[in-house]
Amino acid sequence: MIHDFIIIGQGLAGSILAWQLYQAGAKILVIDSGYPSASRIAAGLVTPVTGKRWVKTKHIDLLLPNANALYQRLGNHFNQPFFFDKPLLRLFQDEADKNKALQRRHDPDYSAYLGDIQPPGAAHHGLDDPYGSIWIQQTGYLASAILCETIHNQLVQHNAHIKERLEFARVRIDQNHVRWGPHKTHKIIFCEGWRVIQNPWFQSLPWQPSQGDILTCHTRDSLPPFIVNRGVWVLPLGKGVFRLGATYQWHPLDEQPSQTARNHLLKQMAQMFKHPIRMTCTGHQAGIRPNTLDQQPIMGCHPRFPQLAIFNGFGSKGGLQIPYYSQCLRDFLLAGQPLPTHVTITRYYDRLTH
Ligand SMILES: Cc1cc2nc3c(=O)[nH]c(=O)nc-3n(C[C@H](O)[C@H](O)[C@H](O)COP(=O)(O)OP(=O)(O)OC[C@H]3O[C@@H](n4cnc5c(N)ncnc54)[C@H](O)[C@@H]3O)c2cc1C
Repeated sequence: MIHDFIIIGQGLAGSILAWQLYQAGAKILVIDSGYPSASRIAAGLVTPVTGKRWVKTKHIDLLLPNANALYQRLGNHFNQPFFFDKPLLRLFQDEADKNKALQRRHDPDYSAYLGDIQPPGAAHHGLDDPYGSIWIQQTGYLASAILCETIHNQLVQHNAHIKERLEFARVRIDQNHVRWGPHKTHKIIFCEGWRVIQNPWFQSLPWQPSQGDILTCHTRDSLPPFIVNRGVWVLPLGKGVFRLGATYQWHPLDEQPSQTARNHLLKQMAQMFKHPIRMTCTGHQAGIRPNTLDQQPIMGCHPRFPQLAIFNGFGSKGGLQIPYYSQCLRDFLLAGQPLPTHVTITRYYDRLTH
């Protein structure tokens, strides 16, 4: 059988793209090595305004409604929720931080995403907020590990999943097809997350992977019922369980959790509260995000081998970006519609043509 598409990697990118193509009637096969993946570790936070500069995620007005709609559709299809709305309170670091937020708050472009400023002492729940705080609106989290597992089970049921590492040396590119062992397809789509840096056809693109550590903890003390952020975030999951994350490290890259990261997270969390929270850490995970130089994903076909395509570079915003951009790639592959200029691989063709 000739598959329309073989997808390499079943993290969030490969899973959602597979679902979109399958729903559109394409014959697909997904190959995943079972390596640890960012998607199975991520907290899946969706936050429209982030960082020290309080900037809106590029194209948020397009990304957010698409993400909400797709997670709702997936929830209905599989009869279980994957996305959970949860308010997020950001505590100001200092006066300068507060002033930057105030500036953004007055910008009409931000009015849908930045809520009321809270004076010092208004955060309650034991939070230490000497400079006040602000509600970020339209926030929540995606249970991305559960979503990947659910799509994995569906693919297995349809004989559309193979657990194996794709060996690049075994890929044979013919004029119109690609072969990998006994499997033949019109196109291979690489969704390997940060491991793309080992891919001989796409490794020269400007990848900047970053390691992140996350703790899973339990407490009997009372926690705020919303997400709290000041440098790091605390995500309450109910019954005293919460996740605490995340760190960023570019060198060295490792999927092994680091003691330094753990100490940093615990110290930052302690500073969020007026009194120490009594807690036990039940898990510590590390993963690698597939970041890019311009912080935008990269998708489309290789200029010399159009039978090879890529869908990658979702950095720390996979939960928000993958739903919309998977539709764009689907429409590009199945209907020849152009890809948005800020994400198309053509912006880096010069790196791939020599
Ligand atoms: C600590 C941490 C916290 C994060 N927090 C958030 C967050 O709050 N919100 C958010 O939106 N995003 C977050 N992210 C980012 C998010 O996880 C990523 O954007 C997203 O998961 C990337 O998905 P992906 O499918 O591209 O890569 P991955 O999830 O890494 O999946 C790649 C898959 O490809 C497979 N693979 C690789 N090479 C091969 C091969 N040769 N053959 C077969 N299979 C292969 C791997 O086994 C893996 O399953 C976080 C990431 C980390 C690490």
